[in-house]
Amino acid sequence: MRSGAEIPPEAETTGVELSRRDLIRAAALTAVGAVAGVGTVAVSRSSDGGPSPRGADSVRRLPVLETVPNDAGADPLIRMQAELRLAMAKPIEERRWSMVIDTRKCVGCHACTVACIAENKLPPGVVYRPVLEEEFGVFPNVQRRFFPRPCMQCDEPPCVPVCPVSATWKRPDGITIIDYDKCIGCRYCISACPYGARTSDFGLNYTDDTPEAQPYESLPNHEYGKSWSREDHGSPVGNARKCHFCLHRLEVGLLPQCVSTCIGRATIFGDSNDPDSLVSEQLRQPNQLKLLEEKGTKPNVVYLV
Ligand code: SF4
Ligand code: SF4
Repeated sequence: MRSGAEIPPEAETTGVELSRRDLIRAAALTAVGAVAGVGTVAVSRSSDGGPSPRGADSVRRLPVLETVPNDAGADPLIRMQAELRLAMAKPIEERRWSMVIDTRKCVGCHACTVACIAENKLPPGVVYRPVLEEEFGVFPNVQRRFFPRPCMQCDEPPCVPVCPVSATWKRPDGITIIDYDKCIGCRYCISACPYGARTSDFGLNYTDDTPEAQPYESLPNHEYGKSWSREDHGSPVGNARKCHFCLHRLEVGLLPQCVSTCIGRATIFGDSNDPDSLVSEQLRQPNQLKLLEEKGTKPNVVYLV
């Protein structure tokens, strides 16, 4: 754990006794804090007024998190939320987002998959975080385990150099992103990703071929801090799409939606450049597995088995 000297002054004044009320309040923050946070966070802006997808800015003041106790050992979610605040206070190049998925805790409920679809308003055929299943052993000693599979945010991402228009790149904090305004939909990156983490948005809706389109399908998503409605086949229709660790949520001080939603606390997320973070603790565990490590992609999503 962190020494007291490292705890920001405002946390020291709150006292950091965790009460049940604190727990409930922090859990509520992870779910609904975006509304409160958006208006108070200073972020860099692109020419159209949305936050820059390049994230060239970095140091953030996140008032939405100032009510979250720092000494949050009671629940991983609260601790991760507090550590997110510390990470966002650093320059972008000093933080490194990583994810650890503990397959011993994943119950295969697919809550993360559904939460991600709702968060990013994903259409049919586009799923950022499917849960893969593996069965092993010999009857009667058969076991099943689950592998949620987001984008691995590879350190050597084969999806990036193949893009003919430089519409996809890796940020200094480790997240590989897509600029929907630049993407021409050639799908080279989709073929290049060995994990199948990228899919194309073909412009389908769940209510196609039904008598009436449902209003929720035309609601905009807020990927990369901008508003994308898919109306009239505008972006991201026709673009490559993939998990981005909910960058738009990170930028307002919230954990990725899959992390907040995971009922087994099987998904641990945070700044692996911070040796005291929960994710760094998990990354020191010996029982690690990286998918397709032999491809040399250097994934930033690690599984505990
Ligand atoms: S589909 Fe888009 S992001 Fe992918 S390679 Fe083509 S232009 Fe680049
Ligand atoms: S998992 Fe695929 S899409 Fe994600 S960074 Fe790696 S190669 Fe690119």
